[in-house]
Amino acid sequence: MSFTIRVLSDPPRSAPALDGETILASLLEAGVPFPHNCQSGNCGACKCELVEGDVLELPYSEYALSPEERSRNLILACRTQVWGDCTVRPLEADETVLHPSRVMRCRLVGAVDLTHDIKQLELAVEAGGPYSFSAGQHAKLKFGPGIPERSYSMANRPDAGILEFFVRQMPRGQASGYVFTSLHLGDAVTVSGPLGNAYLREGHRGPILAVAGGSGMAPIISIVETAFAAEPNRHVHLYFGVRDERDVFFESRLVELARRHPNLALNVLLSQPGGATTRRAGLVSDAVEADFSSLDGFKAYLAGPPPMVEALQSTLTRKGMALRDVHADAFYSQAEDAFNVS
Ligand SMILES: Cc1cc2nc3c(=O)[nH]c(=O)nc-3n(C[C@H](O)[C@H](O)[C@H](O)COP(=O)(O)OP(=O)(O)OC[C@H]3O[C@@H](n4cnc5c(N)ncnc54)[C@H](O)[C@@H]3O)c2cc1C
Repeated sequence: MSFTIRVLSDPPRSAPALDGETILASLLEAGVPFPHNCQSGNCGACKCELVEGDVLELPYSEYALSPEERSRNLILACRTQVWGDCTVRPLEADETVLHPSRVMRCRLVGAVDLTHDIKQLELAVEAGGPYSFSAGQHAKLKFGPGIPERSYSMANRPDAGILEFFVRQMPRGQASGYVFTSLHLGDAVTVSGPLGNAYLREGHRGPILAVAGGSGMAPIISIVETAFAAEPNRHVHLYFGVRDERDVFFESRLVELARRHPNLALNVLLSQPGGATTRRAGLVSDAVEADFSSLDGFKAYLAGPPPMVEALQSTLTRKGMALRDVHADAFYSQAEDAFNVS
């Protein structure tokens, strides 16, 4: 039995539903462009309206699709299989940004140890550019033959010439392990992108809550510096959560940023301080909970480990923030997803 998936885009498109595959996988396989990101029900980038059709939904995170959204017939294309012909309508994103999708040959021109387990990589685009992206987006990096492609967020401002990425070494991680043991200055790296919806909404002029956990500082510093370039007096509350003192990085750059922009409130937190500290201790989600009675008019940008991002999403929802004002990239690991998601 073969079914058809229709997409009410402009122009309308269609694709055959592949046996046992999701709507998103069938569309991408047929070359039909459709917004997507994590492909594992965690990010919400492929959220769309199910106009008609019988479907079977696989488990997904409620932060990607809330029960209220599901009651309005919204689904995640990456977690939905079809049982008959079906029609979906992509959502109109707020401030949609469309950058051309590129596959670029880049060269490693700089590598700096930011901490014991985070490296900053600087890449020069050699072929396949020009590359344009919005602050907060990410790309897929392929470091060498046999090394799986992985997502990393751009840490530089979009108008900078060199691309910067922060890579945290994961225990037994394939791509990050390769970066720490075998990647050398002058090596070629393939960069494909840009991807992702957790980008700076440039039309919003209200205050910003920006929260980074560890290497999540990459998209957050790009967002904050881009926001200040457009409006130096912007009110920005920046929280940087790390485990212990040795995990803090970029502090002088952040302090200098706060000196130049008096409306930047900087908070560095240690979640597991190993000794006495003058810094604030605890989780960034608890700090945000304690520090704000109202987040009216704010937009929040969150990036880092999934438990941190998920805790903050609940905190912000409890504080009354609408999901459309919370832009989050949880750094889900593709390898772990492959094992955790049925
Ligand atoms: C949108 C997005 C943006 C991101 N941005 C960044 C960024 O800016 N910086 C950054 O450092 N990371 C970022 N990440 C995470 C990054 O993409 C990788 O997931 C991360 O670097 C780990 O990749 P790896 O190949 O090194 O590890 P993998 O090989 O994918 O392994 C990851 C973990 O899974 C475990 N694992 C592997 N195989 C198994 C198995 N069989 N069973 C159980 N566990 C297993 C490994 O031990 C390891 O700890 C981002 C992720 C997303 C989704």
